[in-house]
Amino acid sequence: MTERKKFWILKCPRCQIHQIVDSRNKSKTCSQCSRRFDILDLPILAHAKDAREARAIVAELKMPRTAASEPKVI
Ligand SMILES: [Zn+2]
Repeated sequence: MTERKKFWILKCPRCQIHQIVDSRNKSKTCSQCSRRFDILDLPILAHAKDAREARAIVAELKMPRTAASEPKVI
């Protein structure tokens, strides 16, 4: 079974808030500053298979770098 990564994690170009976007969409409006941007113009920081995983990734990205050096068990 092939599993597609359906959600992408990007950063809003204006306020730098992480955004979870559906990869089927072409654009997204920032939940924070209401700026609309094209998804394909921005670097994709991470992929996730569902919204739950996407939120976990965003939480991790927001965390200060203390967690980054720790070995990670998922
Ligand atoms: Zn924004």
